[in-house]
Amino acid sequence: MKKTNAIAMLFLCIMAAGCGQKAVKTPESKREVFPAIELSNMDTTINPADDFYRYCNNNWLKNNPIPEENPYYDAFAEVSDRTKLQIKEIIDEAIHNSKAEQGSVAQKIRDFYNAGMDSVAINERGYRELLPYFEKIDQLSDKSQLAEIIGQLHDEGFKPFFTAGCMVDWKNADRYIMVAFQDGLSLPVPDLYLEEETQVICDYYVEHIANMFRLTGTDSILAARKAKNVLAMETELAKISMPMEEMLDPQNLYHFYSRSEFQVSAPNFNWDNYFAAIGAPTFDSLNVASPNFFIALDKFIQNTDLGTIKDYLRWKVITNSAPLLSDDLVTEDFNFFNGFLYGQEAQKSRWIRVLNKTSNYLEMAIGQLYVEKFCSAEAKERAQDLVENLRLALGERIKRLDWMSEETKAKALHKLECINMKIGYPDKWLDYGKLEVTPESYFQNVRRAIRFENARDMAKIGKFVDMDEWDLSPQTVNGNYRPDKNQITLTAAVLQPPFFNMDADDAVNYGAIGQAIGHEMTHGFDNAGRMYDERGNLNNWWTEEDDARFTERTKQFVKLFDEFELCGRHINGTLTLDENIADLGGLNVAWDAYQMTDEAKANKSIDGFSPAQRFFISYATVWRCNIRDEALELQMKEDLHSPHEARANRALGSMPHFYEAFDIPEGSKMYIAPEERAAIW
Ligand SMILES: [Zn+2]
Repeated sequence: MKKTNAIAMLFLCIMAAGCGQKAVKTPESKREVFPAIELSNMDTTINPADDFYRYCNNNWLKNNPIPEENPYYDAFAEVSDRTKLQIKEIIDEAIHNSKAEQGSVAQKIRDFYNAGMDSVAINERGYRELLPYFEKIDQLSDKSQLAEIIGQLHDEGFKPFFTAGCMVDWKNADRYIMVAFQDGLSLPVPDLYLEEETQVICDYYVEHIANMFRLTGTDSILAARKAKNVLAMETELAKISMPMEEMLDPQNLYHFYSRSEFQVSAPNFNWDNYFAAIGAPTFDSLNVASPNFFIALDKFIQNTDLGTIKDYLRWKVITNSAPLLSDDLVTEDFNFFNGFLYGQEAQKSRWIRVLNKTSNYLEMAIGQLYVEKFCSAEAKERAQDLVENLRLALGERIKRLDWMSEETKAKALHKLECINMKIGYPDKWLDYGKLEVTPESYFQNVRRAIRFENARDMAKIGKFVDMDEWDLSPQTVNGNYRPDKNQITLTAAVLQPPFFNMDADDAVNYGAIGQAIGHEMTHGFDNAGRMYDERGNLNNWWTEEDDARFTERTKQFVKLFDEFELCGRHINGTLTLDENIADLGGLNVAWDAYQMTDEAKANKSIDGFSPAQRFFISYATVWRCNIRDEALELQMKEDLHSPHEARANRALGSMPHFYEAFDIPEGSKMYIAPEERAAIW
């Protein structure tokens, strides 16, 4: 995640993407051709009225065990794997392009990737490239120097204490504004430092920190002491951090301060020095997203001895750099974070790790080549038509809603008109001219790429928001709705079968990507979307009556999902409420949009399935997933989305057309009585 959008990102619903099927290359074109519905993945011995998810996916589930380097394997992972091979082709071409001119995009891609693959040089260097940072930290003699060094570290992508960058101004959404936000923890969430039951994690963590200090030149006794200091520091930061639940309300994350007010609220830290060090332009005011954190941080730094702070700064440099350094550091870092915390059994191969970094740090350079090679204007056009039908369908559904007031409907329809749709890839591309990439050092290439991005970020502060700019690169398998831009993005990589398939009938495309886009669209109008107006300003446009009637309707969603059981555990219907509403809304909108096509009117069966049946099979196909039990347990505790199986089976239970399409009888497992079904959109 780039820090530009760190806060906006909190409100993104990241679409889960499609799935892969056996492909053939036709002789006349290089384009892979996929079947619209892979019948061999289905299990027609299962009654669709009992378990529609397994009826559609059971053979796929049997034939696709989880790779040891994954916590789960689903359609999204399949498309990502396929996309990686496409990116590899692009990188290979750059590698073999010996004529690439110095400074060209091909030279940069080639040298970035090659430097990352040069394990001999990387291992020989060990942690040597961290020594200049260690020296600078060691030379600190007074806390008054902290602001400057923290600014320098932030500029290079290390994140001690907090983060600062640019965001869309939620009270003036045409412009970018500086934002300061809490950060500085190394474990994924504050609760892990604070709860009794997660003490075992902290015990392992402190050992891991000590190991990392030892591997970077500190003797054992000192390493153990430093590790304790770091854990104590981060535990204190966790205590003063805004809890996750409070962050769910965007109003809690917007606090407009003048620079001088901010300096007064956190008086011991020299903010002018800090902002100069991160290369900020002149600016008068900023959003202090978590003011209480900064007030407490200021006091905390005052009360902590400089030696402990130095240990912490050194740790942030080490842990952030480890994946780019020698094998001993990579392995120790993997064993704790990926292995112990997330249950990953094996490290991904070096080429995949380096490919991911190349694609991430040179994202739009790779993206431009990716689009030239793998995307067709035809596909972009067909997806655009589909999206416009969805917009029309949602508009009609909003007009018919019986819970939304007329006054609010008018605002909703205006907001719908204004949604900025980004499909496939941008029309203009980022210029990487100012980024230097050399074959010598992987670590230094990453540092320069981060500084390049940071400089771009800083240059935006105070300027108009460029609505043509893309937040996702075309090769990222993803899509999202951004409330602060009232914008939907759908990348080229997500326009792959069977999420989206140029060779498939409309029923299959509307059931898969159509539902997913419909889901994202409804977020613009729901409990979260109502906080932002059509331009992206924080401005609640619902009346109190709308709110009351909406809330009343949510109860049925909560009940239906609370009841649903998976592997002996019940779903948390309250936690997953917003996403469950969007799933059913997406289905309804996609269904109505599909009815606008000529194909739906012709009502012709394919492979023995009616268009309506193909629509629903395609929907359930997208959710196929094998998941480790630990990962499922964690997901059911923390994820705002229901597990995949429930997204298929439970959402369909409230969809009237599903009953007609498959003749679902009363009393079957999929059946929900009409008066019990949920409905909002
Ligand atoms: Zn969502």
